[in-house]
Amino acid sequence: MTLDPSENDLPYHGLYINGAWCDAEGGRAFDVIEPATGAKLARVASASKADVDRAVAAARDAFDNGPWPHTPHYERARILHELAKLIEENTAELAELESRDGGVPLRATTFNDIPLGLHMMHVFGELARRSPYEPLPWNDFPTLSWNFVWRNPFGVCAQIIPWNYAFCMTIWKLAPALATGNTVVFKPSSLAPLSSIALVKLIDESGLLPKGVINLVTGPGAETGEYLVGHPQVDKIAFTGSTEVGRKIMAIAAPHIKKVTLELGGKSPSILLPDADLDKAVDGALFGMFYHAGQLCEAGTRCFVHSSIYDEVVERMVARTRQLRVGDPLDLSTDIGPLISYRQRDTVERYIAIGREEGARLAIGGGRPVGEIYERGPFLEPTIFTNVDNRSRLAQEEIFGPVLAVIRYDEIGEAIAMANDTMYGLAASVWSRDLQQAIEVAKRIRAGTVGINEHHVLNPYAPFGGFKESGIGREMGVAGLLEYTEPTHIHVDFQQNRAGKLWWDALLPPIEGDE
Ligand code: NDP
Repeated sequence: MTLDPSENDLPYHGLYINGAWCDAEGGRAFDVIEPATGAKLARVASASKADVDRAVAAARDAFDNGPWPHTPHYERARILHELAKLIEENTAELAELESRDGGVPLRATTFNDIPLGLHMMHVFGELARRSPYEPLPWNDFPTLSWNFVWRNPFGVCAQIIPWNYAFCMTIWKLAPALATGNTVVFKPSSLAPLSSIALVKLIDESGLLPKGVINLVTGPGAETGEYLVGHPQVDKIAFTGSTEVGRKIMAIAAPHIKKVTLELGGKSPSILLPDADLDKAVDGALFGMFYHAGQLCEAGTRCFVHSSIYDEVVERMVARTRQLRVGDPLDLSTDIGPLISYRQRDTVERYIAIGREEGARLAIGGGRPVGEIYERGPFLEPTIFTNVDNRSRLAQEEIFGPVLAVIRYDEIGEAIAMANDTMYGLAASVWSRDLQQAIEVAKRIRAGTVGINEHHVLNPYAPFGGFKESGIGREMGVAGLLEYTEPTHIHVDFQQNRAGKLWWDALLPPIEGDE
């Protein structure tokens, strides 16, 4: 894999348009910073409106005039499996790159994030084998007919992702779009674009896709991203990011009635029922919260604990959190890396101050770890507030950092009501030894994914997405695949004799005097 096309020490990555790497207009570019050290990792082209126009035109041409939308589905499936092989061959480099670019511990990127992305690519290869033909029952009213649904690709898709979980997110955007014959203009976040760029380089080097099928533009969301989603030649927008930007994108999509899928924020609950196995539940809830330093949309940021186990859970949580190692993401013993940026740490620290002002009890953390390596990046201690009021800002607003709100409840119904009392509905977890009871609770949670005795549940066969202001539509699974298709109902008439059919003479009453 060639990650560095430049002769200089600092890798430079251009835009990828119509099957070729190129500079942005006027040579515009920005630096990508390694969060853990503050070092420059790469210089990346910053696309202007004219560059976005070129990328969209390439995707448009590849869709309207190229072979990809008409390539047989089984051939597209084969290509996705080939791409998966390339990821597999480059797992170690991709994992290191993702860790350095996003500040994610190498243990997580090596053993979960990159292998999961690889698995997702294979699963979409498998789903791509589904024929775009869906039979419907024979119909005999008003006429005998054979009916089926033909699944068409949408056309040109604008896809935008955030900085967290960037590699997996790139795959769960690109793979279903490719599987169904669309063409794409893809924009990663300026804060962590490198694993997306690396994947596009692998795809480019493989020569497996016709030119123009995938185009990559990098640059600031408010300029490059906003212009891309509003582009009249874009047919569909798939956006993952904050609810605030999601609202803006819906408004931009409205004048052209562009189709949108939105994967937005969350404030997901983990509910510990009175009979929870505390050895698993405490560790699991903390993993649900602190994985990726809490910078995951589905992070279990509100933990509801029954009053009969509350004191023990809090005590165990504090003891376990004390053991978590905050540090260098490249050190395999690190549990929690830095936040993505100093700006993000400022935001999280503001919420820690809000939690204190609101009267929650700071049980552990709340500050910056002390030591030489922590001076180099935006590190923060894993933080737990107890005695939190579910209506407080700490419990209602997405923080996107390592801050857990622990909330006491007395009745299970009360826990469910509080868990649902949020504008979000992305994910949840329920912890109990009684699986039947846990399933009944799960069914009453208004969220797209509910894990039982498990929190971060990303299964590429299953739909992923949010209720309420957590989004629109689903990604992954068959539901995610279908989001990239427009169905056409095709009706084939089988009745040669028109008598009694839905036809002009069946609609009009006989005219008096006519034979
Ligand atoms: P943002 O919404 O700020 O940015 C997300 C992406 O959108 C980035 O690529 C950004 O570009 C771009 N962008 C920003 N403004 C605009 C705009 N006006 N028009 C078009 N594109 C724009 O989110 P963050 O990057 O801060 O990511 C964190 C958020 O993502 C959290 O709210 C989290 O919950 C959510 N998320 C949701 C997931 C889900 O599946 N539901 C999964 C993961 C995260 P740039 O960064 O280059 O400026």
